[in-house]
Amino acid sequence: MNHSNQKYGVAIIGTGIGGSTLAAVLARQGLSAIVFEGGMHPRFTIGESMILETSEAMRALAELYDVPELAYFSSENYYSIIGTSHGVKRHFSFLHHSPSEKQDTRKSLQAVIPKFPYGHEIHIHRQDSDYLLMSIAISYGANVLQGTPVHDITVKPDGVEILTDKQAYHARYIVDAGGMKSILAEKYGWRHRDLRAHTRTVYTHMVDVPCFNDVGPSREQYGHPFRASEGTLHHVFKGGWLWVIPFNNHSRATNPLCSVGLQLDPRVYSLRADLTPEQEFYSFIARFPDIHEQFKGVRPVRAWMRTDRLQYSSQHVVGDRFALLAHAVGFIDPLYSKGLYVTHMSVMVTADLILKAHRTGNYSAAAFAPLEQMTLRYMGMHDRLVANSFKSWSHYKLWSVYSVLWLLGAYQEYLKLTVTRLRAKGRADYLAQLSGLKLAGGGFAPFFKLQEKVDALIEQVNPDDEADVDRTTAEIRGLYSAYPWMPSAFRDLLAGKNCLPNNKLRVNLFNRSDGFLGDGIYREHFFGNQTMIDLILKSLREQARYSVQALCRRHGVRMSCAAVAPLRLRRGILHRG
Ligand SMILES: Cc1cc2nc3c(=O)[nH]c(=O)nc-3n(C[C@H](O)[C@H](O)[C@H](O)COP(=O)(O)OP(=O)(O)OC[C@H]3O[C@@H](n4cnc5c(N)ncnc54)[C@H](O)[C@@H]3O)c2cc1C
Repeated sequence: MNHSNQKYGVAIIGTGIGGSTLAAVLARQGLSAIVFEGGMHPRFTIGESMILETSEAMRALAELYDVPELAYFSSENYYSIIGTSHGVKRHFSFLHHSPSEKQDTRKSLQAVIPKFPYGHEIHIHRQDSDYLLMSIAISYGANVLQGTPVHDITVKPDGVEILTDKQAYHARYIVDAGGMKSILAEKYGWRHRDLRAHTRTVYTHMVDVPCFNDVGPSREQYGHPFRASEGTLHHVFKGGWLWVIPFNNHSRATNPLCSVGLQLDPRVYSLRADLTPEQEFYSFIARFPDIHEQFKGVRPVRAWMRTDRLQYSSQHVVGDRFALLAHAVGFIDPLYSKGLYVTHMSVMVTADLILKAHRTGNYSAAAFAPLEQMTLRYMGMHDRLVANSFKSWSHYKLWSVYSVLWLLGAYQEYLKLTVTRLRAKGRADYLAQLSGLKLAGGGFAPFFKLQEKVDALIEQVNPDDEADVDRTTAEIRGLYSAYPWMPSAFRDLLAGKNCLPNNKLRVNLFNRSDGFLGDGIYREHFFGNQTMIDLILKSLREQARYSVQALCRRHGVRMSCAAVAPLRLRRGILHRG
């Protein structure tokens, strides 16, 4: 066997969105990085729906590690750079269905994604995003070996040895960004499935999927600000849900595909091995007349994928000289699109700890403990959120109150992330201020108290007992009323409204105590000493900074620098190992 003499600063397994982002960041910060990819780009993969928290984490990575390209996938503003194969996401919508019944427009929720200040979000066409991100990592100097699966890793006191088919490589530290097939999680026997959520999935990419508003009730009948096809649509029902993620939903679109995936609780709907995945999909959706209508005459462009239980986790995240990136640690469910958010926060913390270890020489598990704590906290919160959402779909009254907990948690998380990036004095300060995050709630202790109580109530309720459902929803509404920092738009949802407002500036945002800034511990936690004027000025600056023109200008500078300094771009290698 050939042994490479070079010892790299870091080795990374996998060039998915996580591995490539980490490689770009570390290479940009001067570390020698070697990256192994078992497959070849471009390649199909899943995980396409963005959320505000993910986009914000990408902006933070771009700024704090000085890799501006990492913000490309955070907004529709950047189609001219990333291409028009990605879809737009102007909302996150949920339609609740009951078997054999037409969808009731009142049982719907359109959570509008604000256009100001960053532009709407996107549906990422992963084969393109992942290829581009890998290329960006290479352009910063990472060495990427495609078609080179890692077979084994030996951890030694002074580094790691990585075995591939052809050669052994050496590095000071290794990060497993190999996703569910993580060889380190397997090697150390850390995999487990002791989780609350219980789902399986059937998915593919399709063409000719119509907008739901053209086969079911119209946008006007719903009273929603946007058409269903302009964002991520979730059809939800007892025991499962179905995603519809179009890429062909904006005026510049060049990609006819639409991603479709059905998640089912196998304890309610066991896998039909007697049917092909496609037959199972159609036989299942036949129960819901409107969903069935949406998929009449559509065509898959690739083979259907069908899995057994999706959930997996890991006892640990770090060991001496190695760490698992989030998706190698675990996965819960596509619901609420938290996967990419957790992945990017995991990149954020992993990169910081590796750079520290590079300075101190301390690559021990103890030095990387904050990564383990954060990742497992995030997984735990998502697991409970998914399990209880599934339960709440058994009775619309439960979902109508539980959905507000999801929204509140997501909103506060996004707020904390954004305001912290705007206020922090550098990366260390940013990470210190975010050290209490748990995926939802922005690290705000009163939110966690509220969430604990609401989750406990949902876990106890019997959804088949109407009186119990009424008692529980009344109690949850009481808890929300006693929470002084519930945004007025969410209170409107509790009063029966079925959407969030579309970018409307409301006068009551400026109220002193219950306006946007809130007061007391809330104001201190989320905004510190920022005034409304500070925030308005910062938002305007952000809008200018992340505008199409500003980004193209920055992109143009890097591209023209590359033209005069091609050596740096050529340092990375891209070949079959
Ligand atoms: C069904 C489903 C739907 C999802 N939907 C969403 C969504 O809508 N929104 C969202 O935010 N998240 C979603 N996710 C989660 C999202 O897919 C992940 O967060 C994301 O893909 C993680 O990226 P990654 O690069 O860490 O891992 P992956 O994308 O899994 O990439 C891992 C890479 O490692 C390579 N690899 C593995 N083992 C080896 C080895 N031994 N040697 C060399 N290379 C190796 C693989 O070939 C692959 O390229 C979804 C997940 C699933 C399963």
